[in-house]
Amino acid sequence: MSHFRPMSCNRSRRQLIVLLFMAVVTFSSATLTNAAEEKTKRRRKSRKAAAAEQAAGPRNYRSKNFIMHTDLPKKEAQDLLKRMETMLRLISRYWGAPCRKTIECYVVKDLQKWPPGSLHPRGVQSIAAGGGVTLSQSQALLSNQQIIDADAVVYAVAKRGVPLHEAVHAYCALTFGRTGPTWYSEGMAEMGNYWRQNDSSVKLEPIVLQYLQNSETKKLEEIVYGAQISGDSWREYAWRWALCHLLANNPNYAKRFRPLGLALLNKQNVDFKQVYGAMFQEIVFEYEFFIQHLDQGLRSDLISFDWKRKFRKSRGNSRVRVKISAGRGWQPSGLMVDAEIEYQFSVEGHWKLAKKGPELDADGTVILPPPTPDGNDKVIVSAKPAPEKSADANDGNEAPAAGQLLGIVLVYDEDTGYRLSKPFNLGRYGTFTAPATGNLYLRCHDKWNEIADNSGTVSASIKEQGMGAPLKEPNAEVLRTNKVRSTNK
Ligand SMILES: [Zn+2]
Repeated sequence: MSHFRPMSCNRSRRQLIVLLFMAVVTFSSATLTNAAEEKTKRRRKSRKAAAAEQAAGPRNYRSKNFIMHTDLPKKEAQDLLKRMETMLRLISRYWGAPCRKTIECYVVKDLQKWPPGSLHPRGVQSIAAGGGVTLSQSQALLSNQQIIDADAVVYAVAKRGVPLHEAVHAYCALTFGRTGPTWYSEGMAEMGNYWRQNDSSVKLEPIVLQYLQNSETKKLEEIVYGAQISGDSWREYAWRWALCHLLANNPNYAKRFRPLGLALLNKQNVDFKQVYGAMFQEIVFEYEFFIQHLDQGLRSDLISFDWKRKFRKSRGNSRVRVKISAGRGWQPSGLMVDAEIEYQFSVEGHWKLAKKGPELDADGTVILPPPTPDGNDKVIVSAKPAPEKSADANDGNEAPAAGQLLGIVLVYDEDTGYRLSKPFNLGRYGTFTAPATGNLYLRCHDKWNEIADNSGTVSASIKEQGMGAPLKEPNAEVLRTNKVRSTNK
């Protein structure tokens, strides 16, 4: 490159350096803004002391990685700083790089409290619209785009996760000199808003969850390759969050997602399809599955599909045997089934749908009630827990009992990709007719967002009906409560 000259001892000649300017804007939404403002008004009335403190105008607060200028009351400002530090620690660990500079933040509750000229006009513009913006600049070597210095300043309204969202942008700008393409940058910033230690379950703002649950699912290609601008709308942000959350937490894709992100942040020549090309159809399928079952508490790691498992056809008398966990989503049986063919199943073992819940067999029948505090034995009753409504409630089929073993067939077509049949009820012992030709998957019936506390596994044997000797009915499960009697009775 003609600009390039070897570094001489004259360090002041900075011809190698180009100045980049970035602005990453956060959405604003009328609905969210109004709701939050209502709340703010109510709070304001109830806390005169805080209001008096506010009248004094913006103050400065410092923590390890932030300097924050804000008109928030002291307690709220300190709480926010604490949350921002926690989030920063988590994202620094995720990206494997410490934040290399203090992040300066202007967090505004009431613009009227700020003297004219105290905020950057771009910041005022975003804050007035109920959002935020991160203004950053970085100096990079023209030769190889390597970032040698950067600055970032956050302007954010003191609402919801806006300061946290913007702080993710600021961290990326300071650490990598850039924030990546919009889908990644905004998706990860939204994740930062929800990031919690040792907890990868879905916890969304109710309005965002409702929107994702009730809208037509946005195509994955559209999220990654569609037209996009930062600050377009909170709805667009929701889809980017969904994709980033899935890729960061589903074990099938998480390992490649971090290096993909780092490459995007380091502006290497990478592309989504280049990284995930061979598993693109699986990602599309799991992304749509994730959206379909999206709810507070959903765990994308537990509902992930095992794509490595080999499947085979049932031949003659041979059967497949497989262990199915209560604490996971659809699990491969190893059996390829043919539409309209009848199969027989026999299932041993028991599982639980809650830590202190009863032991259930694969029919969902209680075989051991939960222990009682007085330690008395209970009469073992054979009662099905009330069936619950779920996305699996299948037409023409009786609603499954909680804890009942269910089946589903995963069908693959080269042109259209993967799709699932309607789920159908299995249980402890019986037969079923396959609704489609494909791979049989099994799971324990429970609400999708409540499987994390399930425990236990059952062992299922499955074979074609009428071929060779039939499967034996499993022995009745015999379980007893341990007699733990209190001594001071
Ligand atoms: Zn953003």
